Amino acid sequence: MKNTPQRLIVEQTVQKMHDHPTADDVYEQVLPQLPTISKATVYRILNALDEEGVLRKIRVPGSADRFDYQLSPHSHIRCVECGRIEDVQSLFLPDSGWVSDAKGYQVLRCMMSFEGICPECLKKQK
Ligand SMILES: [Zn+2]
Ligand SMILES: [Zn+2]
Repeated sequence: MKNTPQRLIVEQTVQKMHDHPTADDVYEQVLPQLPTISKATVYRILNALDEEGVLRKIRVPGSADRFDYQLSPHSHIRCVECGRIEDVQSLFLPDSGWVSDAKGYQVLRCMMSFEGICPECLKKQK
């Protein structure tokens, strides 16, 4: 994929968004700079950047994919009430080497995540 200005702006925007935005969130952020861009294009660029390892796509079961500027290994916790996703610097991210050995796969990623209720939603419940 070529380094188009569109792609550059999408990439720089995600680097600045540290709250695991959805493709829709990214689209709204780039719109002032790229008024003619379509959601489909933003989505395509985001997926290409994920495939190239420039950013990381987080698949969320039953909800829109999120995008993460942070590439270092970490896992996530998602609030089931408000949908926010935060980083968890996990101490026990599994080493994928044994999976490759046991199954013969080239392991691309391990998607470990937690679900819970965030402190703010807990406060509201009280
Ligand atoms: Zn919450
Ligand atoms: Zn993250």
